[in-house]
Amino acid sequence: MSDPVRIRLGNRVFEGRNNAYLLGADTGEATLIDTAIATPEVRTELEAGLAEHGLGFADIERVVLTHWHEDHVGLAGAIQAAGGATVRAHAADAPVIEQDPDAVAAMRERQHELFDEWGMPEAAREELLAFLDRFEDITDEPPSIEPFEDGAHVPVGDGELETVHLPGHAAGLTGFARAREGGPELFSGDALLPRYTPNVGGADVRVERALEKYLDTLVCIADGEFARAWPGHRDPIDDPTERAVEILTHHRERTERVVGVLAEHGPADAWTVSAHLFGDLEGIHVLHGPGEADAHLVHLEAGGIVEHTEAGYRLVEPDSDLDELFPAAAVAASRPGGDD
Ligand SMILES: [Zn+2]
Ligand SMILES: [Zn+2]
Repeated sequence: MSDPVRIRLGNRVFEGRNNAYLLGADTGEATLIDTAIATPEVRTELEAGLAEHGLGFADIERVVLTHWHEDHVGLAGAIQAAGGATVRAHAADAPVIEQDPDAVAAMRERQHELFDEWGMPEAAREELLAFLDRFEDITDEPPSIEPFEDGAHVPVGDGELETVHLPGHAAGLTGFARAREGGPELFSGDALLPRYTPNVGGADVRVERALEKYLDTLVCIADGEFARAWPGHRDPIDDPTERAVEILTHHRERTERVVGVLAEHGPADAWTVSAHLFGDLEGIHVLHGPGEADAHLVHLEAGGIVEHTEAGYRLVEPDSDLDELFPAAAVAASRPGGDD
């Protein structure tokens, strides 16, 4: 079994260039993990990447998707239309990828509820909705999905992948693990990225207690002792456990900053906390910033450190020990190889 073929694809909008991974290229059962955004330029890039291995869209047997975001699923429908590929994704994300009208409407409705809850000003809301509308037309005809759950086995020509549910950034986010000489590897989608910390709270408004779920996801990755992770964006990660611990530590520090903001400026809503943390935001960050702030506030609320009042989140236990909220970090850090 060899390294996957990594096809790098343009994306000026979200977390940086996307990766699609091609497995089993010469087995007659070619499998693609993720498909990138459905713009004409990226379609040409993906076609060129496949052509280097003598393949076209019609030769793809199977597509597996890490999560519903447009920059990962965009071209899946076109690939399926070309040759009838089976397209698979987690059951929680399948209806959104299929653009089921009820699922899309429920997502929109939840966004609007949260914009109110976060205290997003009208002008920012309008700017964000205009930004999101620009992307309405970059999703082609959606694929029809054969859903999977956690722990499913998916054949990929020269072996198989095991699905690993890694919620937080998205409800259905799934990594794909496979055994290899030298240790198991994980196709991590946006659950584990190098340098960049994946957004939680804004990136999928359907996820309740998103930070708590994502911390569990990071512990799951750290515990997996993967020899390598192949992320949805940017370069491979050679020590996934170390990277997971790094992101856990980062979230703990961010939580401390949120407590600091409330101590100085509270009570405050998520929008105000976001402004203190991140300053002025543009584009997709108008969604991600307050979403991230809210995910941290909800996590603090669950731990009894803040309470939600009419005036916003109020600090009730300013001197609390955040260890209670980050048992995950303690577990991961105590592992051999964890730093502190
Ligand atoms: Zn994503
Ligand atoms: Zn992404």
